[in-house]
Amino acid sequence: MIEVIEQSESRIAVRFIGYPIQYVNALRRIAMVEVPIMAIDDVIIYENSSVMHDEVLAHRLGLIPLSTPLHRFVRQEECECKSPLGCPRCRVLLYLDVRADEKGRVVTSGDIVSEDESVRPISDNIPIVTLVKNQGVRFEAYARLGIGKMHAKWQPTTVSIVREVDSSKDDYILELESVGSLPARDILLEAINILEEKITTLGDSIGGLKAYADAKSSIG
Ligand SMILES: [Zn+2]
Repeated sequence: MIEVIEQSESRIAVRFIGYPIQYVNALRRIAMVEVPIMAIDDVIIYENSSVMHDEVLAHRLGLIPLSTPLHRFVRQEECECKSPLGCPRCRVLLYLDVRADEKGRVVTSGDIVSEDESVRPISDNIPIVTLVKNQGVRFEAYARLGIGKMHAKWQPTTVSIVREVDSSKDDYILELESVGSLPARDILLEAINILEEKITTLGDSIGGLKAYADAKSSIG
């Protein structure tokens, strides 16, 4: 039996009864490191007169969660464009141009402008850098799809755990919490799709192996 016991935009908990823990754990791992989301990957800094080094600024930008429309984009390595900078199918351009006046100011995620409104910071209030009088920051950034296996900035979950209710009855609860790029429910559904694909691929390989072994034994 599988039952959704808690669900909100950011969180989902599902109870699995009668399934070995390995299956539940496979979903947990796939949700964490194989469901793709968007994150800033390349940054071209035109101006940075803040005290923050360019590398630190670029690193901070990578960690800002971006809303991700599932299946609208393809991974750059799988895109037909084969271009190092990508194309509208495999990347989104974001830019920022802020100059502080007399009072100085904090540059936040809300200052980032996206060429595609479906891919933008999930909150406008994430601080990026503090500018004092006359300092400025101007950059272009490319967001791309990636997975948590490549870098933690592409991890769609903050929490992905399996809780044991009664292991003798194979009774477990899978809990997922989203960083905000995708609804928690979509992370789970996508993890299920990916697991299903893996099982199909494995099934095909085993089928091929079996056919090969059968042919061998009939010759032998
Ligand atoms: Zn492309």
